[in-house]
Parts: sequence; C-alpha cells; structure tokens
Amino acid sequence: MIELKNVSKYYYSKGVIATGFSKINVSFDIGEFVAITGESGSGKSTLLNVLSGLDTYEEGEMYIEGKETSHYLEKDWENYRRKYIGNIYQNFNLINSYTVYQNIDIILSLNGTPHKERKQKILELLKRVNMLKYKKTKVSKLSGGQKQRVDIARALAKDVPIIIADEPTGNLDKRSAESIIELLREISKEKLIIIVTHNYEQVEEYVTRKITMHDGSILSDKKITPIPKQDVSLEQYQYKNMNPLEKLRIGIRNTFNIPIKFLLLMAVYSFIVCALMGEYSFFKEGEYETSRMGYSSAFHADDHRIVFNKKDKSSFSKEELETIKNMKNIDYLNENDLTSDMNNEFTTVDEQTWVYGLLRPIKLLQKTNIEGKMPEKDNEILIEAEKDSYLFDENDSIIGKELYFFDPLGGGIDKKEKYIVTGIRYPSNEETYIDNCMIYVPDKVLEKVKFDTHRKYSEITIDFINEIVTSYPYDTYMKIETNPWVYPGTAFISEDENYRCEKDNCIGKEITIHVKNTYYNDSTTLKIEKTYNKKNIGYILDLPNYNKEDYEMQYNGVIFVNPEDYNRLFDKDTYQVSVYVKDITKIEETANKLEEAGYHTLMIKDTLVTDSYSRIVRVLKIIVTVILVVVLFFITYFIIKIILKSRNIYFSILRMLGASKKVCLDLLIIELLVVSNLSYFIFLFLAECNRRKAWNIGFINTVNQYFQTSDYMILYGIILFMSILISLRYSRKLFKDSVMNTYREEM
Ligand code: ADP
Ligand code: MG
Repeated sequence: MIELKNVSKYYYSKGVIATGFSKINVSFDIGEFVAITGESGSGKSTLLNVLSGLDTYEEGEMYIEGKETSHYLEKDWENYRRKYIGNIYQNFNLINSYTVYQNIDIILSLNGTPHKERKQKILELLKRVNMLKYKKTKVSKLSGGQKQRVDIARALAKDVPIIIADEPTGNLDKRSAESIIELLREISKEKLIIIVTHNYEQVEEYVTRKITMHDGSILSDKKITPIPKQDVSLEQYQYKNMNPLEKLRIGIRNTFNIPIKFLLLMAVYSFIVCALMGEYSFFKEGEYETSRMGYSSAFHADDHRIVFNKKDKSSFSKEELETIKNMKNIDYLNENDLTSDMNNEFTTVDEQTWVYGLLRPIKLLQKTNIEGKMPEKDNEILIEAEKDSYLFDENDSIIGKELYFFDPLGGGIDKKEKYIVTGIRYPSNEETYIDNCMIYVPDKVLEKVKFDTHRKYSEITIDFINEIVTSYPYDTYMKIETNPWVYPGTAFISEDENYRCEKDNCIGKEITIHVKNTYYNDSTTLKIEKTYNKKNIGYILDLPNYNKEDYEMQYNGVIFVNPEDYNRLFDKDTYQVSVYVKDITKIEETANKLEEAGYHTLMIKDTLVTDSYSRIVRVLKIIVTVILVVVLFFITYFIIKIILKSRNIYFSILRMLGASKKVCLDLLIIELLVVSNLSYFIFLFLAECNRRKAWNIGFINTVNQYFQTSDYMILYGIILFMSILISLRYSRKLFKDSVMNTYREEM
C-alpha cells in the first residue's frame, strides 16, 4: 500500500547537509502492526515524518497505492494527511491554550464531523485513554503522561487507515503503556500501525513485524506473524470539508483564547483606528480650509450658502419652502436669492456718506466682533466691513447715522423710509471672504429690492411703434423708470420719440414691455399718455431737484411707467432660493438631501476659483496623507506579524492535523476581523458618547466634526481590507515551506 524505493532524506541547515536516512526500500500494508527500533539518531522519526507526508524526501520514490508522489504539492500532502494519517507525536504537538476536549474536537471539526457525533466520540475516546475527568483542563496544565494520552486519543478520533506513532508510550508508566498498546492492537486489524519504540518487549507480543534501523538504513526487517490478506482500498476513506459555521466558532474562540495576545492585538488595532481617524480628519480639515480659499466671480463667496432651483425650473410652492425651512442643518432660507449677489446703496440725506454693499438678513449676522448694538427694530441696520474700510472714519463714526435707500431705477433717494445704523462688525481673520461691505437689513428691505434684482437678471425688450428695442438699465435711451405720478396702465415718453408716429404724435398709441429670464416670460401693454420735454419734466414727474443741465444725460429717452405696472412684471413666484447651513462641515449632506428632494443645487464654495499655489498645496497634502497611510499600514503589519508569530506553532499543528491553507487563512481572517471590528466599534461608541457630551475628548471632537457617514464607511473598509491583507501575507509565509520545516523553525 505504501512503498518506498531508494528513498533518501537529507537535512540542510546552515550550509551543512545531514542525512536523515538514505536509500531505504520498504513497503507496508493494511493489517500490519510494525515496530521500528534502533538507537537514537538512526532515522526513525525522519522515516515516520516522510511516511506521514509531514516532510519531503529528496531522492527515490514513495508510492501510495502504486501511485508516485514525487510530484505532490503541499496541497496533495494536506489531503493525504487528512484522509489517511493519524499521528501520535513524540512531543505531543497539542494546542496548549485549548482544553483536552477542544484538542480532540478540532481535528474532528477540521474534517467536517457534525457536532453531535463529535461529542459522543470524544467522550468515548477520553474514557478509553482514561482522561475523561480532565476534559475541561487546559493542556498546558497536564503532565507528560497525560499529554501523551490526549495525543493518542486525538490520533484515534479520526477514522483513518494509517496510525503512525513516534514513541507513544515513552512518557507512560508500565500499566498505562500496556493498555495503550492493547488499544492500538485492537484497532490494528483493519489499519496499518507503525510504531517507533525503545521498549520492544512492551510491544513484542502484539507486533506482526519488526524493523531495526541503524545509521539511516534498515538493518533488519523481520515478519513475525503472517497477516491475512486484507481487502481494503484507501479509496474508501473520504473526508468532508470544514463547516463554515464551525470555522466561525473556532475563529472567534481563537480571538479570545490567549488573553495577552488578544489585548495586544486590540491595542494595535485601537492605535491604527485612532491614527487613521486622526490622519484622515486632519486631511479633511485641510480640505475644508482649502475649499474656503479663493474667490467667486458670479456669487458672493459665502461658504454657508447653497443656491438651488427646481429641476424643471418651475416655481416653489409655499409648502415646499416650509419643508425646506424645517430640514436639518438649515439656518436661514432666502426666498429672494437673486438679491444676495446684487449691490445696493444707502446714503445720508445730504449725500455726504454713501454705503455700498450686499444686503443680508439680520438673521445671518454673527454676533462676534460687534461694535455698537445689534439691530432690533425694523428700521435698524448694521454694517460689516474690513477694519480699514473707507466707511469707518475715526472722526466721524457711522454708528447712529440715518441712512436712506437709494433706488437708481425708482427715482433716486427713497425718503419715505429712514434707517439707523446701530453698529458695525469687523469680520475675523478666518473669514477670508468679506471682499465687500455687507449691510444687514430687516427683511422688508430685501423684499423691496427684489424687483430691482429681478429686473437686473431679466432681458427687457419693448415693442415701440413698429420697432423692437432692448432696454438697458445703464443706458438712458429706452431705459424704463418707475414714477408714482404716471397713471397706472400708461407710459410717459420723451417728446423726441414722437417722430415714430404719424403726424409726429404718439399720444394714445400703445407700447408693450416684454420681460424674459431663465424662469419665465411676461409682458404688459401700456398706453402712451403724455410726452415730456426739457422744460416740463420736472413739473410732470414732480422732480423737486430737477436741473435742466441734466436733461440729456439723465432723462431724455427714458420711458416712465407706474411702479405697480412695472413691479407686476417681476413680482412672481419664487424660482430660485438659497439656504444657509448651520454646520458647514455637513453642507455636502444637506446639498445631497436637497438634490434627492428634486432640486438642482450649487454650493457656493464650489464656485470658488483657487489659485495654482493652493492647488499644489492640496496635491501635496493628498500625497502626504497617502504616504502616512501606507507607513501606518506597514507599522501595523510589522507589529501584528510579531504578535502572530506566537501563532506559528498553532497553525503548524493545525497543518499537521490536515488543515488546508484556506482553513488556516479563514481562521486567521476571522480572528483579525473580530479584533478590528471590536476596536472600530468601540471607537464609534466613544465618538457617540462624545457627541452626547458624556465626556469630551478633543481629538474625537475633530473627527466628529469633519467625518460624514461615508468617511466612517471608507475607514471601516480600509481597516477590514488591511486585516485581510495581513492575513493573506501571513498565511502565504506560513505555507511557503513544508510543515516540518515551518514547525522546526519555531522550535
Ligand atoms: P531518531 O528519531 O531515530 O532518533 P531522527 O530521525 O530524529 O532519529 O534523526 C536522524 C538523523 O537526522 C540524525 O542524524 C539527526 O541528527 C538528523 N536530523 C534530524 N532532524 C534534523 C534536523 N532538523 N536538522 C538536521 N539534522 C537532523
Ligand atoms: Mg526520534
């Protein structure tokens, strides 16, 4: 059944070649009970290792059921050991951190024996080797003799055709030795038993054959009793694969088996989780800072602002606006978004002081760095600008000044409403964006400028007696201005335009004003009621400060209409709004929510144009982060490798028992995944406690601030990926060599 032809085994160590045995010719059959004797160093153990497939041979050929094995790979030897071989080792090779029961259980699990069957079998075997009362004892606490008996029970647990025993009774007293030999004899009828012994008398009465070895060769090979021809084929021995749940159970058990190793691994993983989180949040913080740099040409660069409209460009309903206002992280909803980016002017009545800037609702005013008071009443405003602004004259403070809104399209200074400046605010150094002056005003002012703003963003054309002309706000000719003295439904035009009409008289004729912008088209038709000229314009339109000198530059060519008629063209539904977020680090989440709700969003921070310097800094930061992560990976790998080195013996023993590379890898992956998940979720738990203010750790605060769900997921992925990579590398190393070579390295 097993046959060796001229087989030699050499050991290579440190450049020296030693002979284990040389040119051995021998064969074994089922039913034999073979005793091998010989002095120490004669090659007995080496022969057993080769026969068990634990070690390789260098010369000759070993046949199993007539088939050559010299081409066998490590995988084939694994199968061979699993199917055919039960080993009893000279030095036991038990798993010290397991109990007696678990040591036998593992070999059965590896072979897919179901739980119920296992239990019964193990208890029975322990009884036979007289170890039942120690079943829950850790192997490390046993004496040599006891270990030997466990080792024997383990070898017999699996149903295999070949039992190979290296001095199985060396550590036992005479009586137990005899009972063990008897046990072996009992099962030897359908098996091949090969046993190395120093004490031949002990086995003499049972053996069928005696081989004596000397100096690496077989000195004599005597058949003592003939054995009946057995009709047993190795093919009938099959094994099942390990059950995945069983793997999980053992992997988890291994995690906690050796407390010191578990704690060390936890420490390393906690370190790596913290280091990765720290590094990554540092990177995110940097990204955020970079994103705040730069300028935007189209929008005023307020990074808290998200502008959006509906994807179909229809208008927002009241309910929709209400829902948006109530969304998480929304600080303020500006229904008249277009007003945000248009500069407006206020002036004192003597026109000595002018304030020119962007209007903002008081709601968005930050309460830091304020001089004077916060606006409270609905005619109070506050001005924000850099300290060195022309507005802030030490000798003539703007605080307390009375200002009027200046309406360039609606007849200049609007004296109906008076606004009082209650305070000023200097932006802090981090607020890099105040490129302008900000005027914080009550909501009614924002409402008022809405029309002007909409006009600015619309294209206005006029059907003017057989001609279509475009009206521009900065060109007096065909510019449309509102004046309350114009009757509703009518328009006042310059006398100079009369040439367009028959008999040079346009009165009574109609003009149509068309408004067109991204969101809507509208038009209104007005009847020409009056014409004005240089002399009468001051009187017709009630312009008290009218100066004839200004007529050509300021008035001639303007079309005057009633404010109500004109505003109606712009007093439309809300088509474009913006929100300001409370927590800027969550702005992406908020924007995503809005996108999901069907809106088309634009984060103002994305419109920023950064210069090449900050782009280079950003690239460098990414490179540094990647390098740090890689370095961290190798540090971790190195430390984990050292910790795992203590596991080499464990995995070598599993291999001797027939565990495949895949099983070992899976067990290791499970173990590392348990530890990495534990450390990761402990961190998440701490982060959550921090968030709920159970305690306060600065570092975790930073992580919380800059991390979003997706970041946590990315890091989780990295950590899991690392664990799997480490396991793969480790198992590749472990399986690089034959079992015995790997094992010997550790001894
Ligand atoms: P036995 O079991 O009969 O006492 P071994 O099989 O252990 O003998 O050893 C046979 C020969 O091989 C001895 O000469 C021994 O020195 C040598 N040998 C055994 N193991 C190794 C090893 N790992 N490295 C080098 N030489 C070894
Ligand atoms: Mg030996």
